[in-house]
Amino acid sequence: MTHQCKNVLVACEDFRMVKNHVNWADHTLGDRNYDLVTAGGSQKAIVDETTRDSILKWIGIGVDLHKANMVVIIAHEDCGAYGGSSAFNDWDEEKAKYVEDMNTAEGLIKTNFSVEVKKFVMMLDGTIEEI
Ligand SMILES: [Zn+2]
Repeated sequence: MTHQCKNVLVACEDFRMVKNHVNWADHTLGDRNYDLVTAGGSQKAIVDETTRDSILKWIGIGVDLHKANMVVIIAHEDCGAYGGSSAFNDWDEEKAKYVEDMNTAEGLIKTNFSVEVKKFVMMLDGTIEEI
């Protein structure tokens, strides 16, 4: 087996989402075809200046060492890093914030690495939508 993979998956550390993330990624990105970077709030950890450098460093390992050319960001419903769903008036407002931050994160990733970026929002039940 080569010591390379095509993707870096950036996903929240939330225990409720771990199986959903891994099941989806194994099926969609391919078993043993992604590095996994977990941080509270996933895209929020890239946007947040206090955690950005660390997350970009972990992404960089996937890009530089493992030759990944795709970064996949998954936001998820009821993310505690944002205060959960109760911090928003409704799902539309919640999703819009995740999309806004994923778009910002995409820009920061592309500023640092020559990669493609894909963005998804996953519900607690594991259903997922590409943004
Ligand atoms: Zn979360």
